[in-house]
Amino acid sequence: MRDYWKMPLDELREEAREKTLRQHGRKVTYVVNRNANFTRVCNVGCSFCGFGRRPGTKGANSDRIDEVVARVAKTPWVTEVCLQGGIDPDLPPEYYFDLVRALREAFPWMHLHAFSPMEIDSLCAKADCEPEEILSKMRAAGVGTIPGTAAEILVDEVRRKISRNKLPVARWVQIVRAAHRTGLKSSATILFGHVERWEDIRAHFDVLRSVQESTGGFTELVPLAFIPYQNRLGSMLARRAGSMGVLEERIRKRAMRLYPLARMVLGEVIPNLQTSWVKLGVEGAVESLGWGCNDFGGTLYEESITRSSGGKHGEKMEPDEIEAAIRGAGYQASLRSTVYGPVKNRFSLVKKSCHPPAREHLVPRIA
Ligand code: SF4
Repeated sequence: MRDYWKMPLDELREEAREKTLRQHGRKVTYVVNRNANFTRVCNVGCSFCGFGRRPGTKGANSDRIDEVVARVAKTPWVTEVCLQGGIDPDLPPEYYFDLVRALREAFPWMHLHAFSPMEIDSLCAKADCEPEEILSKMRAAGVGTIPGTAAEILVDEVRRKISRNKLPVARWVQIVRAAHRTGLKSSATILFGHVERWEDIRAHFDVLRSVQESTGGFTELVPLAFIPYQNRLGSMLARRAGSMGVLEERIRKRAMRLYPLARMVLGEVIPNLQTSWVKLGVEGAVESLGWGCNDFGGTLYEESITRSSGGKHGEKMEPDEIEAAIRGAGYQASLRSTVYGPVKNRFSLVKKSCHPPAREHLVPRIA
């Protein structure tokens, strides 16, 4: 067996490109989705985060449920809503269930991709119950899958350095396994390009492999490059590196090796590898299709988490922009559901809705 961790970069990328073509041909998928970040209040204080606001500080707001519903109503053509927020100590568990029910009722055709393991952990503490109970109730209320965020690097020593109040690795794994057992699949993520070493990334991949081999519940791996511009960790690392430019270059180099490694090391067990235009930019995301990625991610209407850390690549892409980027790189663009299935005729779904119709120019394209 070849040691991909030590392989020269050119060789590794070529192997990853060929393996991706064997596994997926020239098809590159994407999803029409939006975010609905319902609270910025957070008492966790991760050093890499520019989104969360300490309770009582400027901008520390939680939305009313009707405000979230009204925002989602602006994009009735999406097939997925990703619900994530900070950890607001004052938001009761009922808020989360009511939010899910309200969205389910208003937009029955949308898949709800909701609540990270950190949010589930905090709900368990608030409701004094086990993850299975929260997750089963979430599923019954209408949650379809959960985001596998809050993973950062699944090595406790690294977590203590970048987000010491976050749930430990064992708890993250426990919650993700419980979700998969409950019938809620999840994404898997990794936040890279900060203080982690390659051996930490290797350990992270080992954790993901072990979960996937027993549950089969990960739909995809989503590597997330660290955005260093408006957070404590970024300022510290830029100072240490000598300049922000040097740090940016390090993150870019790490991405160039991490994506092909993920394809080669985890491709058999987690075949879908998602790039991130919001982190890498459209050009970088297109380039990564030649490094092992087979999924372009989503339209991400209302992206605000990366922007809050100073992300420079915008808050949304329209479906036709994504398709043009994919086709421009010589691949076939293919619309997918959250769980990588086909998307039914969304035009009829939009017509059935009692909400304002989708923008005319979008409807025929995605019908
Ligand atoms: S990453 Fe999430 S948990 Fe950490 S500070 Fe930001 S909002 Fe809070």
